Amino acid sequence: MPLNLVQYIRDLPDWPKPGIIFRDITPLLKDKTAFAAAINWISEPYLHQPVDLIVGIESRGFILASGVAYRLGVGFVPARKPGKLPWKTVTASYQLEYGTDSLQIHQDAIEPKQKVVIIDDVLATGGTLSATIELVNKLQGEIVEIVTLIELTFLQGRQKLGNYPYRSLIRY
Ligand code: AMP
Repeated sequence: MPLNLVQYIRDLPDWPKPGIIFRDITPLLKDKTAFAAAINWISEPYLHQPVDLIVGIESRGFILASGVAYRLGVGFVPARKPGKLPWKTVTASYQLEYGTDSLQIHQDAIEPKQKVVIIDDVLATGGTLSATIELVNKLQGEIVEIVTLIELTFLQGRQKLGNYPYRSLIRY
């Protein structure tokens, strides 16, 4: 790790509800050196290895994914909450503690066999990322890697990511 980025993560106990420690990345985003280091760390393997598209997950995933897409000179694709995307979509649902939620991606966002990296800020239970994997698979994209800045290892979300390569920078 180029910098000790963990010092830029603000821990907010009992937010948004009791028992959750929210990992706030806004101090990292605000610091030009830390933000650049995070984008460079995510991008580094793809400076010399082909990738076609970066998929970012609403909403903090968008910030990191668009920085990486710009760094690599490739396109950005948003995976969004239902009802936000204006064109034809594909949908994947995932389990929440109570009930389900879904994510959508535009039908024409990814061409078959395009090489895709999926990015979010935090891997917790893995539901969000597993739904995004399903969306990319529905469009027959090739998932090269999944990357998050933060991994909450005790929730074992990695197990929901199948055999796809996965990388995290900061682990709790
Ligand atoms: P999950 O689907 O359980 O892996 O949750 C991942 C999504 O929820 C990510 O998009 C995160 O932004 C958000 N998230 C879950 N837990 C936390 C946490 N403790 N701190 C910050 N964000 C979180």
